[in-house]
Amino acid sequence: MKRTELKRRTPLKKISKKMQKQRSQEVKLKKQILKEQGRCGMDDSRAACLICGKWALLDKHEIKSRGQCGNALDRKNCVCICSSCHEGCTNGIIKLTVDGDDLVVTWVKTSKTKRILNYTQPLEVTA
Ligand SMILES: [Zn+2]
Repeated sequence: MKRTELKRRTPLKKISKKMQKQRSQEVKLKKQILKEQGRCGMDDSRAACLICGKWALLDKHEIKSRGQCGNALDRKNCVCICSSCHEGCTNGIIKLTVDGDDLVVTWVKTSKTKRILNYTQPLEVTA
């Protein structure tokens, strides 16, 4: 395989041991969530988006961001959603709120809501 030369001239910024540990734990948690939401064991990078159900490459989203004192390693604070839903969340189009064991998704513009019951439980495979 032909590779283009890396354009980066400066080394990547070093992260602290603590941050390194946190990141690897985050990756582990994401993998775990994807496994729970996944429908297919063949490709574990793809799973069903928790919000729209689309089968896609998912991003890990923190319901409560770090800036809001959210814990990126708390299973209850993390959902795996597709990139378009993720964009909606970051742009404030979609609002996520936790209500007990359920996750309430609100589309701000239309005030349409969707309740995802027991969202931290593995999805039931229906197919
Ligand atoms: Zn989605």
